[in-house]
Amino acid sequence: MADSNFLTEHNARHVWHPMAHPAEMRANPPTIITGGEGAEIIDIDGKRLLDGVGGLWNVNLGYSCDAVKHAITTQLNELPYYSAFRGTTNGPLIELSVALAEFFGPDGMVRSFFTSGGSDSVETALRLARQFHKINGQPERTKFVSLKKGYHGTHFGGASVNGNQNFRRAYEPLLPGTIHLAAPYAYRNPFNTDDPKLIADAIIRQFADEIAFNGADTIAALIMEPVLGAGGVIVPHESLMPGLRTLCDKNGILLIADEVITAFGRTGAWSGSRLWGVQPDMMCSAKAITNGYFPFGAVMIGSRIADAFEADRTAMGSIGHGYTYSGHPVGAAAALACLTETIKQDLPTNAAARGVELLDGLNDLQARHPIIGDVRGKGLMCALELVANRDDKTPAGKDVVGKVYQGAYDAGVMIRTSGNNIILSPTLIISKADVARILDALDAGLKSAH
Ligand code: PLP
Repeated sequence: MADSNFLTEHNARHVWHPMAHPAEMRANPPTIITGGEGAEIIDIDGKRLLDGVGGLWNVNLGYSCDAVKHAITTQLNELPYYSAFRGTTNGPLIELSVALAEFFGPDGMVRSFFTSGGSDSVETALRLARQFHKINGQPERTKFVSLKKGYHGTHFGGASVNGNQNFRRAYEPLLPGTIHLAAPYAYRNPFNTDDPKLIADAIIRQFADEIAFNGADTIAALIMEPVLGAGGVIVPHESLMPGLRTLCDKNGILLIADEVITAFGRTGAWSGSRLWGVQPDMMCSAKAITNGYFPFGAVMIGSRIADAFEADRTAMGSIGHGYTYSGHPVGAAAALACLTETIKQDLPTNAAARGVELLDGLNDLQARHPIIGDVRGKGLMCALELVANRDDKTPAGKDVVGKVYQGAYDAGVMIRTSGNNIILSPTLIISKADVARILDALDAGLKSAH
């Protein structure tokens, strides 16, 4: 491989990175990652880092999952690609659909539509929601409701329901008719309380109010993450999702669970919906479905929607939507192997146990570091919110956040920063010792920042 300076220079000259300013690439060049093994990654200088980010919330099984690598190479040799558009299908795709229906049966899911990633999954679910209402003779149900601070990918539909201005402003106008409810964010909210239950009650009331104001017959679906990830790991009170589900049911509104991060065990439950005891109408997945080894996703579909499409034999019941890579045989084979390994290694149980240890450790850090304003987490998705001042909650500056990042890096752990948040989403295979390593590195990073 070319040397580090050459790569950095050419990266700055020729690459546009997602979620980054192109002009920053020389002043603040990205780290070049050259390897991965177990729960660790290796940078171009050969430094080994425990990956506190898990790729991008997706490498649940770590970097050395031979069963998945084997499934990919075997499938590549057998059938590297064929279309799943009407007329042809393939074995791995069928086997995976059966496995997902079984696996997500407790969530009410009966069918799957395959995609190339999370944004595709969200776009698919939004489009199918509108189509469902047209099939049902309610074509005016076109609006979508979502939560502020929610993240639903970057296609126009997904960006429209996103609850973060950073991903919206430059791309407006977005879809008309999107309604944003408050985030279930106990640390900062407009409700003058930090009680998660009261906040959940207030959001449920907001939803009822928006339904009354807009008219239930104009609303297609509510889309939400069971635990908000990219928005800063915001864990709602257990009553929020069930309360919103009840209002959806009363008003003929579909519930789309965006489980791109939460499906497959990250919260300690097999799905985020199951964590809160809710059956959504559709479940968007991607990321860990293939452990990050292959771009792939699935929208799982509940029986109400599946039955309506099946019953409509007109053109309206036909799915006028799909991707070249929908049902990619290599992706499907990878996903099947991931599912098998996730079950075999019982990763959700490990995520729950390690998550408790991590959260306890983060709370200890908060007691020692005044720049930690808030600690949040569920399973192996956790966040520290850094502040300049705990009393008035002024967010910590970029320099402070950067020092924490660098300090943790120097101590051998990769963490992710997002605004004034430190996000932790390690692989789900980490051990108790790995949790201690993350906490020690964070401690070092935090010390270096004050
Ligand atoms: N939905 C959620 C909840 C996500 O976290 C993400 C990505 O982080 C997406 C959708 C978009 O997925 P992708 O980046 O694979 O398009």
